[in-house]
Formats: sequence, structure tokens, C-alpha cells
Amino acid sequence: MADCVAAVKTGMRLILLGPPGAGKGTQATLLAQRHGTTSLASGDILRDAIRRGDPIGRKASRYVESGALVPDDLVTGLIFQRLDGLGKEESFILDGFPRTESQARVLDARLMEKGQSPVDLVVDFEISEEKIVRRLAGRRICGACGASYHLEKKAPRREGACDSCAGGLRIREDDRPETIRRRLLVYHEQTEPLLKFYRAQGKLQVVPGDLEIEDQYQALLELLKRERLV
Ligand code: ADP
Ligand code: ZN
Repeated sequence: MADCVAAVKTGMRLILLGPPGAGKGTQATLLAQRHGTTSLASGDILRDAIRRGDPIGRKASRYVESGALVPDDLVTGLIFQRLDGLGKEESFILDGFPRTESQARVLDARLMEKGQSPVDLVVDFEISEEKIVRRLAGRRICGACGASYHLEKKAPRREGACDSCAGGLRIREDDRPETIRRRLLVYHEQTEPLLKFYRAQGKLQVVPGDLEIEDQYQALLELLKRERLV
């Protein structure tokens, strides 16, 4: 890893929260690439299962496409399967999971059961709804590998084609305006209560979600340094 400045703490468990469009996926990917850790994005994992047409994917697709949350047992099963593939001391970032208080409790219980260290830090990316809608409208994803782009902020090198696999770019099914509104509502109703849950554990910190990609990254990195995670 040529541009790996400093590795994250061994066994780090970092959770990225915040509404759709707050930059969770972008920041998780940058951190993973630059600091040698693993990022697990529940949305990507679900879309991948849907593309492959496996049993969980078939059950999850209607929820994802309509902007509703996928039932806890389906998501938890998929995420835990991935976590089982990591070494016990391996660090990881969770992007998009947990998204409900019950998912958070199940995660805590699982880490405990496996004798692993608990969640270190939960970052809430804050951004206004107006900016969210603008951002999601410009988002494009690769139909082949799922990589994410933005028409203004993170344009592909060649228009309409994925930088890493040359697959065709398209609008994500759930980035249509009506579905964006549904996702925001779902976020307020089901995910926001999680902020209180983690605040009560003393684990919640806020980073602005409306900055340019690199500025947001620097803000996140400074926080991780203060918390002695990098
Ligand atoms: P965003 O954060 O931009 O909404 P994601 O890719 O994280 O996008 O999630 C897309 C969709 O995948 C969600 O709207 C939901 O249907 C499903 N999903 C992702 N993570 C979870 C989760 N932890 N629990 C339930 N559903 C989830
Ligand atoms: Zn691709």
C-alpha cells in the first residue's frame, strides 16, 4: 500500500452512521484504502446478493428497491457471514450497519460472544436534506461491480463507464426522488434513535457530512487520531 500513511488500531471497530448521501460509503472506502482496514457496506453487500440472485438477495430486493429497511435477520445474517471471514483481531469499518437499535444490540452481543473487542467509535455524518437530495440525484453506480460515482464530485474518467471494470454506469434504483424521500423518512424513524443509543454509551462523535470529499476525509481522520484509532 504505497499511500498508507498510518495503519488503524489493531481490532478497531468503527461504525459510520448518518443519512443516505452523507458520504459514508465514500469515506469508508478511502479509509480502507489508505489505512489498511476492511470496510463492510451493508448496502453493497445487499446489492451484491441481489445481483447474484442468491436466496437472501431474492428476499431483500423489494425492500432495497423501495427504500425500506431489509428485515433485521436477513441483513444481520449477511453481515455476520462477512465478519466471520475476518480474523479475530482484524480491524473493520461498518458502513450502513447497524441501522436499527435492535441491529446494534445484536452486534454488541455477537462481539461479546466471540470474545472480540467492542465497538470503539460511532461517527455521525451530519448534512441537510436539501444537500442530500442534490447529492443522491448525481450519484451513479456501476452495474457490473457496484462502484459508486458522482457526476460532479467524483466523475468517472470516461463518461458513463466504470474506472475499475469499464462496466456501464446507471442510476441506483433507490436514488429516484420518491424513493429518496422514503429513505429519509425511514432514516428519521428507524435509524436516528440509534444516535441516542450510542451517545448514551459515550461512543458517538459528529463529523460534517456536507464538505468536499477530501475535507470530510481530513475531518474524519483528525477525529480518529484524537480517539487514538489511527
Ligand atoms: P444509503 O445509506 O445511501 O441509503 P445504502 O447502500 O447504505 O444506502 O443502503 C441501501 C438500502 O439497503 C437501504 O435503503 C435498505 O433497503 C438496505 N439496507 C442497507 N443496510 C441496511 C441495514 N443495516 N438494515 C436494513 N436494511 C439495510
Ligand atoms: Zn465497475
